[in-house]
Amino acid sequence: MRDTKARSVKCEFSSKCRFCEEYISKMPLTVGVYKGMYCNHDFVKCARYMVASDLGYELVPHELYPTHDIQARKIIAENEAHVKPQRRCTMTLEVRYAERPGYLLVRVCGKWEELDAKEEIEALREEAEKRGITRLFLDVRDMLPPESLMTRTATGGYIAKLLTPPFRVVALAEPEMIDGITEYSAVSQGAIFKVFADEKAAIEWLHDRTTTIIE
Ligand code: SF4
Repeated sequence: MRDTKARSVKCEFSSKCRFCEEYISKMPLTVGVYKGMYCNHDFVKCARYMVASDLGYELVPHELYPTHDIQARKIIAENEAHVKPQRRCTMTLEVRYAERPGYLLVRVCGKWEELDAKEEIEALREEAEKRGITRLFLDVRDMLPPESLMTRTATGGYIAKLLTPPFRVVALAEPEMIDGITEYSAVSQGAIFKVFADEKAAIEWLHDRTTTIIE
């Protein structure tokens, strides 16, 4: 499987999003450009997609244009800051997917238990294959620590078993959650996997093409 394989280029929110329909009579040329640039091509760069995939379509402001990416990031950051304290208290594991340029962002929050982790990694593989994406960014900063070290080891094993190369997986975790066990378990069993506490470094590593990947 490759990142470049044929995949749907239509925005997954096209059945809900009314932006183009509403604005086409007022500015037909611009809407035509938006459709070509975003809706039917590079939807991950659309400001409306960014907010919808992160927060849910209902939180996309009516007047947000596809080109308003700075505003979209602000809306996402403000909302994240508001909901974050509640998220880590969630008992069940909750996973949300959002496409970003070149990778799939996977936000995980809730309690880290072995069985749930296995099921979510299986679901992640299925989701990534469906979308034709092999670079995965796991944001696990809102996960609660597991009750035992065995859970960390087992999770690394599932990553290695289910997300085999060409999958390349990075996890972004709170510094106090990083002890190297999950990473060691996954990498020693063949996964291309690394854990970071720094988001910029994590994204750079994910995009690094100097590491050999069998595709
Ligand atoms: S405007 Fe954006 S969110 Fe709406 S359908 Fe097009 S790409 Fe998707």
